[in-house]
Amino acid sequence: MHWSKLFIPTLRENPAEAEVVSHQLLLRAGYIRQLSAGIYSYLYLAQRAMLKITQIVREEMDAIGAQEMLLPVLHPAEVWQESGRWGVMGHDMFRLKDRFGRDMCLGMTEEEVMTTIARGELRSYKQLPQIWYQIAAKFRDEPRPKSGLMRVRQFIMKDSYSFDLGPPGLDESYDKHYAAYCKIFDRCGLSYLVVEAFSGAMGGKQSHEFAVPSDAGEDYIVQCPNCKYSANLEKAVSRPSEPKQPDVEGDHTPEEFHTPGRKTIAEVSEFTKLPETSQIKSLVMVADNRPVLILLRGDHQLSETKLQAELGVTDIRPAHPDEIRQWFGAEAGSLGPVGVRNMRVIADEALKGRRNMIGGANRNDYHLRNVTPDKDFKPDYHDLRQVMSGDPCTQCGGSLELIKCLEVGHIFKLGYKYSESMGLRVLKEDGQEVAVIMGSYGIGIERILTAAIELYHDKDGMALPVTIAPFTVVVTPVNYSDEGQRQAASNIYQSLLDLGIDALIDDRDERPGVKFKDADLIGIPYRVTVGKKLPKGIVEVVNRRTRESTDVAVDDAANYLCERLNPAS
Ligand code: ATP
Ligand code: MG
Repeated sequence: MHWSKLFIPTLRENPAEAEVVSHQLLLRAGYIRQLSAGIYSYLYLAQRAMLKITQIVREEMDAIGAQEMLLPVLHPAEVWQESGRWGVMGHDMFRLKDRFGRDMCLGMTEEEVMTTIARGELRSYKQLPQIWYQIAAKFRDEPRPKSGLMRVRQFIMKDSYSFDLGPPGLDESYDKHYAAYCKIFDRCGLSYLVVEAFSGAMGGKQSHEFAVPSDAGEDYIVQCPNCKYSANLEKAVSRPSEPKQPDVEGDHTPEEFHTPGRKTIAEVSEFTKLPETSQIKSLVMVADNRPVLILLRGDHQLSETKLQAELGVTDIRPAHPDEIRQWFGAEAGSLGPVGVRNMRVIADEALKGRRNMIGGANRNDYHLRNVTPDKDFKPDYHDLRQVMSGDPCTQCGGSLELIKCLEVGHIFKLGYKYSESMGLRVLKEDGQEVAVIMGSYGIGIERILTAAIELYHDKDGMALPVTIAPFTVVVTPVNYSDEGQRQAASNIYQSLLDLGIDALIDDRDERPGVKFKDADLIGIPYRVTVGKKLPKGIVEVVNRRTRESTDVAVDDAANYLCERLNPAS
């Protein structure tokens, strides 16, 4: 390709709206343009990079025997109603009506459609196992689309689905995906962690997340530096750290005291001169329309995901102020468990065995001291809190760390959720019907690109891995109007193409500084500079990431690069 003919609209300045590096660079390097919030056009360079990523994904999926298909993005509501997810997906689902007023939606994921195909066609155990996949657009009306391509409302996902006769078969399909995902992310040049994850709205049993450590991410992973334990924050468990101050001994009776204007845990802590760990935090949540009182240690945070899983509900939200007033006769900030009879009371396990703590009195501006769980109120205990950095590991006692990450892939054992709700059964060898067991596996194609940019960039631009960069080599004649340079550059460019190397020639009539800056910005892994050393028969090969520059004989340049790019051959 000749740069002078291409549409690569690079920008000199960082666009004001972009906060994270990958967003800034994708705009500056002319990869993408925004159409609307969370909706982007992928211009030439982005599309080339995305095609390279999808090709890697495709090769590794094909290698585990997965079969590529292409399913509709436009779905009738019925299939989602059958699985029960029409009511669960809430505002994340783009919904519309056709001309007859029938409910439709845009696919967020394709379990329903895949199951519809399978139940119509799979009859016998002899047809199993199957792995079906596609690489296609998904639509999600994300509440906070931001950070460029990291969280968008339309994106490309590789989604695959496995169909097996029983749990051992599912384990095998799952393990194949696990291994294929490692190969995919390795080939895309990412460094990543694989952690246990919560299966969320997919409704599964076992799940792993593939995540790239990055400050630009929105996910947290908990890791023990001591043992192998690691998990997504939504699912991670810990032992609670010791309370900062031991509890007062003895069976004291709850006693009201005046706390004028003190509402938050921090304010009450300051007022009482007792650490936050000595307080009971009371949160009122509404789970599937029923109130529950949630109790945590003052310094702990609720994990809504754990709570939702524990309660087995589909919808959960904090109670509104007027609901709280109606149920407690007091406002948030003065709430506590003593005397609460009109709702379920659930406490985090860190409150078990504690005594003589501080809690709200259910009377504005009053708190109680000497509140003891199991004596003054009787909660159900569950693990409901988010792990905090420094908490002891449940496995080895090591000090847990929180790492910010960007999720790039996710695999789930679905079990029988869809085959049972939608009626996907086959005949076993003995003639009996059985439900098919399923798995579901996703990779975000844009996420791979953004993660790579977040991992590999410097102040001048992207430094993409060879495997996913839109071009592998840019040949840059410093002065294109110089006949000798033009000829030498064209020869190198042609030799690179002949060797199967994805090359670009910068034939623009621009100053060298502009050409170098643009090449650095768009992240081409190697640059061949044809310039002042040419009269001595020398060109320079520059590695974008290391900045290492090597003098190479003009006739050897293409072969030199070929050896670097394919060290094994
Ligand atoms: P997240 O927690 O980031 O919202 P998710 O758990 O909703 O992700 P899945 O439903 O498991 O994601 O989708 C599979 C993959 O699709 C994710 O691992 C991620 O790489 C990608 N993905 C999901 N949502 C988006 C989005 N809004 N924009 C871009 N990629 C996405
Ligand atoms: Mg999501």
